[in-house]
This record gives sequence, structure tokens and C-alpha cells, in this order.
Amino acid sequence: MSEVQKFAGLNLIAPLARAVAEEGYETPTPIQARCIPHLLKGRDLLGCAQTGTGKTAAFALPVLQGLEKSRGGKRRIRTLILTPTRELAAQIGESFRTYGRHLSLTSTVIFGGVSQGSQEKALRRGPDILVATPGRLLDLMGQKLIDLKHLECFILDEADRMLDMGFIHDVRRVIDALPAKRQTLFFSATMPSAVAKLADRLLTDPVRIVVTPELTTADGIDETLLFVDRGDKRRLLETLLQDTTICRALVFSRTKHGADRICKQLTRRKIAVGSIHGNKTQNARTRALAGFRTGELRVLVATDIAARGIDVDDVSHVINFDLPNEPEGYVHRIGRTARAGRYGKAISFCSGDELGYLRDIERIIKRKVPVRLDHDLHSEDAANGLEDGVPAESPCKRQARKQAERARQRRDGGARPARRGPQGQSANTRRSKGRPKGPAPAKNRRRRRARRPAGG
Ligand code: AMP
Repeated sequence: MSEVQKFAGLNLIAPLARAVAEEGYETPTPIQARCIPHLLKGRDLLGCAQTGTGKTAAFALPVLQGLEKSRGGKRRIRTLILTPTRELAAQIGESFRTYGRHLSLTSTVIFGGVSQGSQEKALRRGPDILVATPGRLLDLMGQKLIDLKHLECFILDEADRMLDMGFIHDVRRVIDALPAKRQTLFFSATMPSAVAKLADRLLTDPVRIVVTPELTTADGIDETLLFVDRGDKRRLLETLLQDTTICRALVFSRTKHGADRICKQLTRRKIAVGSIHGNKTQNARTRALAGFRTGELRVLVATDIAARGIDVDDVSHVINFDLPNEPEGYVHRIGRTARAGRYGKAISFCSGDELGYLRDIERIIKRKVPVRLDHDLHSEDAANGLEDGVPAESPCKRQARKQAERARQRRDGGARPARRGPQGQSANTRRSKGRPKGPAPAKNRRRRRARRPAGG
């Protein structure tokens, strides 16, 4: 179908058209132009689209319009949006509030990692729209606090990431609880076969819309790659951040520990930095994200899962401190900048051990990432896949080897060689000294609970 050029051509009801205009949107993005007419007619939809394409409004606007038109007496959950991360859930909830601000529909967001009290209260009021992560949704369904019998529309967002994060069983359990007669929308940035199978099962005669070809990077991103020795990466990051045009940088670390290390180091250098990853409490993550949004934090260090779908305007730079081990991750990461047609820079560090990851990335984006050689920490060794002059071991192999070593040590006589404290006592002795035998103090138990992984 031909693309509608103006929102006026989409037949949105006046309160929605007004909200869209107040947001400053003049023309629908391609996904909006192509999805909205079908969704208003009640069709199922299979959307292959990256975040940053305007996907949220593409489904939120027609959903709000449908709900407004079919409004009956009692308030019940009539639309469910299932999404993998808490940040994404909060963002979608915010979009529904923004676009629906001139309607009297209500929405609620539920996710794990926070107490359920306020979510329970909101559910009792009977929202029209529920945005949820799978774990907390199933939890509250199990407690009979959520009734999906009156659902009219189900939206599965970021299906590929949902599968990556191991939520497939949870998603299936949610689907089993939905009424058979409903409209279903299914969005995924990529379409591996497991995702396509799930879509087949869920959708009835769907409209298929692919907005940007699978795994191509968005226009408007200036990409460069810097070869650097593993041990020099942090120095390189510090040097880069002396450039004041880097005003809002999202730095990606492959591991949670790595993210913490970067954060500590930049804090020592008096750079306003925060971090988000699965070991952080929900409050700490919300605070960091809010600080990054307002500009109070210049740098946000994140792991892939925590950052997925984060929508922050004007991210000037994405810095891949580590290359992702899944090549698709590269496209998702650098898509955090240059959102909705803006311009941004993506800078990737590549050490000798990551050369294989770089090759995988270049294979899927079907081109070379431009390399910058004119920086002081450029390493020819890294460019040739070497570390200390010998072929580097990939991070995955290194991790597997370390795990095997630890397992062997356990088999061959128990613990790893204990690290000794100043008085020669082991770490365990030091830790337990002065506290009676029995369960760990409540403070520690609370801390451990707070550190449980993200998502549900
Ligand atoms: P999304 O892909 O839904 O995460 O949207 C990415 C960004 O694009 C968000 O900041 C939206 O506010 C913005 N956006 C969505 N639709 C439009 C539009 N039609 N015109 C301008 N910006 C938009």
C-alpha cells in the first residue's frame, strides 16, 4: 500500500490527533503509516521492526482508538502488552499515557523487582491497558489479581529478546490464559525460526510489515571502530571522553562486573556516570536512567539486556566498550543513537580476542565497520587477533576455560586455593568472625534478594 504522508490521513480520532500534534510529530514514521490503517480495521499484525522506528506509537494509537470506541460499563483489562524488560514496560506505559492524555482510558504497568502493593492497588481499579513483564504478570495471575477473560487485544513486543532472555515458557503460559477471540500484534526486531514459529501459532491471517530490512543499521549513524589492547580499553574511554562533544554517551559492557568497573573508574575521574544492569535494584536503575535522561549524568554504562529498548532522546554517542558476542546486538546497541531520524555516533573498541565477534558483525551487516587508525592507543596486535603477541583466546572460550578450571579444582579436593587475609585467615573465616552460627544476617539476605536478575 502507498504510505500516508500526514497523520491527518490516518483517520485518528480528534483526542489522539491532538496528542500526536502536541508531541511535535508531523509525519507518521514508515511503520506508523503502514501499521495504523490495518490495526484500526482489527487485523492481526506481524511487525519486523527495530526500536527507534516509532513502533510504540504504531501500536499504541490504534489500540487507544479501538478501546475508546468499544468502551463499555465496567473497567476491565482489555489490552495486554507483554514486553521483556522493566525499562521497556515503563517506557511503553509512559507512551500510552502521553498519546492517551485526552482520553479517559487508564493504564497500569507491572514488573518485578519492586513490591507489588501499589501495582495491586492499581489493578483493583481495573485498568483498560496493562503493560507487563512476564514474571510479575504470571505471579499476579497466580494470585488471582489479574483477569484476562475480557481481553480484546494482545501485543507481544520484542519477541526475539523475550526468547533470548529465556522467557519462552512464561510467554506460552500467558498465551494459554488468553481468550481465543482477540486481536494479536507481534513485534520483533529479528525473525529467527523459533520466533517465526511462535508468531505462526499466535496470529491469524496477519498483515506482515517489515520496516527496515532485517539487521541493517539505521541511517544517520556515523560508525567507527578502534583496535585497542584489552588492558588499554579503559584508558581509551577516558581519553575519548575528554571530547566535550560527547554530551550523552551510552557505554556498553558485555558483563555486569565490567560495567561496574567502568563506572567506578569514570567516577574517580569526576565524570558524571551511572550504570544499569541486572544486579542493580530497580530503584537504582530507575534513578540512573532518569539522571541520564535529564542530562545530570553524561555517561550511562549498560549491559545489553538492561539497555534493550531504552528510549532516551539525543544520545550523542554509543560506545561499545566490548563488542557484543551476538552480532545482532551490535545493530540493537548502535540503534540507541540517531533515533527517529536524528544523527549520532557509534564508536566500537575491538581487542585481539574480539576479532571473531567483529567478523560476525560485519557478516550480518554486510559491510565493514570503518576503522580509525589515528589514535594513540591503536594496536596492530589487536587488529591481527593477537594478545601479548600470541593468538588471543575469545572471551567465550576464556570464560569456558575458567569455568572448567574451577570445576576441576572443586573435583580435585574442594575449594579453590583460599585467599588469605593479613592474619593468614581465609575469606570465609574473616567474613563469619564475630557473628553467631546460623542464617546470614537479614541485611545480607535482603541484599541478595535485591540482586536477583532483571526482567520479571
Ligand atoms: P519507538 O521506536 O517507539 O521507541 O520510538 C522512538 C522515538 O521516536 C520516540 O522518542 C518517539 O517519541 C519518536 N517518534 C515516534 N513517532 C514519531 C513521529 N511520527 N515523528 C517524530 N518522532 C516520533
